[in-house]
Amino acid sequence: MTVVLFCMIFSSSVAGAEPPARFEFAETHMGSEFRIVLYSPDGGLARRAARAAFDRIAGLDAALSDYNPESELMRLCDRAGGPPVPVSPDLFSILQRSKALYERSGGAFDVTVGPAVRQWRRARRDRKMPTAENLARARSLTSSELMHLDPAARTVRLEKDGMKLDLGGIAKGWASDAAIGVLKEQGVTSALVAGAGDIVVSGPPPGEPGWVVGVAPLEDPGETPERYFSLRDAAVSTSGDAERFVEIDGRRYAHIVDPRTALGVVERGSVTVVSKDGGTSDALATAVFVLGPERGLALVEATPGAACLYVRKADGVVTAVESARMSGVPRAAPGELEGPAARLVPR
Ligand code: AMP
Ligand code: MG
Repeated sequence: MTVVLFCMIFSSSVAGAEPPARFEFAETHMGSEFRIVLYSPDGGLARRAARAAFDRIAGLDAALSDYNPESELMRLCDRAGGPPVPVSPDLFSILQRSKALYERSGGAFDVTVGPAVRQWRRARRDRKMPTAENLARARSLTSSELMHLDPAARTVRLEKDGMKLDLGGIAKGWASDAAIGVLKEQGVTSALVAGAGDIVVSGPPPGEPGWVVGVAPLEDPGETPERYFSLRDAAVSTSGDAERFVEIDGRRYAHIVDPRTALGVVERGSVTVVSKDGGTSDALATAVFVLGPERGLALVEATPGAACLYVRKADGVVTAVESARMSGVPRAAPGELEGPAARLVPR
């Protein structure tokens, strides 16, 4: 053993190559802490690459935020009811992807759900049910059929005045994916980018089969994860009602809204989707939470490369169901998490 180690050190110093070291960075964007964990033999490169990746996330935040009235997204919404508006390639692509999932999910994933999401944000703050009138108005403004995308002109037309788009169900996974792309361009090929419940990874840590990611338990998300996956070149997202919900008259309404009713979803659950890219895993997890286990898992089965773990609590009993491809996702032993970044808690 000693001899082998000596030879390894000797040969690597002869070749002049430093072994890769682990670096971790954190910044707040999109209202969440984003973390980047990466391996690189060069500290300067690691810092430059992380800087470029965070800058990309910040740029997407500035374009896609529904909290910032100056974002490109909100300026587009200001012109709802008017003529087509030219938009940036980033905004157009994310809206195109969102509308495609709207169609595939039978309307469960719908980024025009903004007016209803705002009603439920207020309901959480005031602990009061939105009025029937406000819910009816939100419903009348919610449908991606009212969002017209013209790829040739790269324009978006929102048919009705008052429409509000909300990319909260896809933006963090999409941004994590973009950040992994920037890290690769910078020469970093072994990295993890996490924005709360959305994680994207490239090549595994040196000598490891994958990045270990743990899914927080449904009942007590602060507790030690119960399930662990080992992932490489993949994305994983968790959606659910664990942290953001409001209880009114004994019913618990999640921050995820059923676009057909404009009501917060009342299912108690946590949906974890593994796929090839962060936009897909993020949006699909949100869609599956709206659809419920049966229709949700059918949507996952119909999505190439996607797998889903659905943990729910009904009548006081916690049960877990998995889509078929989940059996092909490698599991990992507990206690090997790559730092706090790799804990999936739905937000
Ligand atoms: P996630 O944590 O990825 O499931 O995203 C939840 C966020 O997506 C919510 O806080 C809303 O901003 C937004 N959202 C809520 N309901 C929907 C829906 N049915 N389709 C798309 N986005 C939604
Ligand atoms: Mg999502």
